[in-house]
Amino acid sequence: MLMTTLMCGAMSIVMFSVYRSFRREVHGLGHWAAGLLLLVCASMLFGTRDVLPPAWSIIAANAALVAGIGLSMLGTEKFYGLAPSRRAYFLILALAIGGNSWWLLVLPDFSARVAVFSLLVCLFYARQVQLVWRYGERHFSSFFFGTLMLLQTVAVLARGVSALLHGGTSVNLTVAGTPTGIYLAVANFMALLLTVGFMTVATRHLQQILERRSTHDPLTQVLNRRGFGDAYAREIGNPRRPRLPLTLLSIDLDYFKSINDRYGHAVGDQVLAHVATIIGGALRESDCVARFGGEEFVVLMPDMPVHNAVGVAERIRALLCESSHTGLPSCTVSIGIACQASVLEGLEELLSRADAALYLAKERGRDRIELDAAAFTAGRIMSAAGSCNTR
Ligand code: GH3
Ligand code: MG
Ligand code: MG
Repeated sequence: MLMTTLMCGAMSIVMFSVYRSFRREVHGLGHWAAGLLLLVCASMLFGTRDVLPPAWSIIAANAALVAGIGLSMLGTEKFYGLAPSRRAYFLILALAIGGNSWWLLVLPDFSARVAVFSLLVCLFYARQVQLVWRYGERHFSSFFFGTLMLLQTVAVLARGVSALLHGGTSVNLTVAGTPTGIYLAVANFMALLLTVGFMTVATRHLQQILERRSTHDPLTQVLNRRGFGDAYAREIGNPRRPRLPLTLLSIDLDYFKSINDRYGHAVGDQVLAHVATIIGGALRESDCVARFGGEEFVVLMPDMPVHNAVGVAERIRALLCESSHTGLPSCTVSIGIACQASVLEGLEELLSRADAALYLAKERGRDRIELDAAAFTAGRIMSAAGSCNTR
C-alpha cells in the first residue's frame, strides 16, 4: 500500500508536468493530477489514526478520498469536452462527508456508513464509464480505460451492496484477513491503474492532435504538403485501388496579391479559408485537397478520368462565382489538370505537369481551366476538350 501510495504521488507529478505542457491540447489533466494528490493525502490521513483521534482522521481521509475520485470525474468530463458537473460533485461530496460524520459520531453504524459512502463514490466511477462508452474513440486506449473504470465501479458497488446485505464486518478493512488484504491491495493498485488508463487515452488524443498539426494547414484546415504526400502514398499503396486514372488539379488564386494590398492580409486569409471550403465542397469523400503554400491548392482525385476532372474544376469555379454574397472580396482561380500517364509516374512528375497546365491557364488570361498536354496526346479527353479552356 505504501508503495502504491508513493507511486500515485509520483504519477501525480508526471500528470502535473504533462498538464503544464499540454493544458490547451488535453483537457482534464489538471483535475486528474489534483485528484491523485488528494488520494495520496487520503492514504496518509488513514495512517494518522494512531496519532489523531481516529474518528477525525477517518472523516478527513474519506473526505479526501471522495474529493479526489470526484476530481477525476470532473477531469474526464473536461477531457471529453463537457462542462464539469460541479454541482453534482459538491452535492455528492457533502453527502459523503455528512453521512460519514453522522454514522461515525452521532449514530455509529459501520454498515450504513460503508454502504452509503461506497454507493456515492460508485456514482463518480459510473459516470466515467458512461462518458467513455458514449464519447470514447473505438481504440484500444478507450477500451482499456473504460474496462478499468467498469471494474472499479463493480468493485465499489459490490462493497456497498455487501455492507447493506451482510453488515459491516463483511467489508471492514481494518479487520485483518485474506479478502480484506486483497481488496486493499487491488483498490490501491486500481487508483494507479486508472491513472495509467486516463494517461493512455490522453496520450492517444495528444498523438492525434500532433499528427493533425504536422499534416494540416492551420489557416484553411486542409492538408499541407506533408499530409498530401501521405495521402498520395496511401492511395498508391492501396492494393484494392481500381486501375482507373489518378488525376491532379493545381489551383491558384488570380491576382491574390491585389486582394491583400487592397483589403489587408487578414481579409486575404479569410479569402484563402473560404476558397479551401469551396474546393472541399466540390469534391468526393475519396478526394483530398491540400494547400501548397501561398495561394495555391492541389487536389488529388483517385479513379477520376480526366473528362470528369474537368467537370469538378468547372464546379469549383462555378461555386466560387456563386459565393460572392459572403461579403468577402470576389476572386477567381486558374486550374491546371494532369492525369497520371502510367502507374510508374510519381507524384513530383504529376505535380509538375499539373503546374505546367496551370501556368498555361495564367498565360492565357486566368480564370480558366487548362489540361496538361499529355492528357490530349493520350487521347482520353476528346469529349472534355470543348468544355474547358472556356471562361
Ligand atoms: P497570379 O494571378 O499570377 O497568381 O497573381 P497573384 O497575385 O495571385 O500571385 P503572386 O505570386 O504575385 O502573389 C501571391 C500573394 O499571395 C503574395 C503573398 O503576399 C500572398 N500570400 C501568400 N501566402 C499568404 C497567406 O498565408 N495569407 C495571405 N493573406 N496572403 C498570402
Ligand atoms: Mg495567384
Ligand atoms: Mg501562386
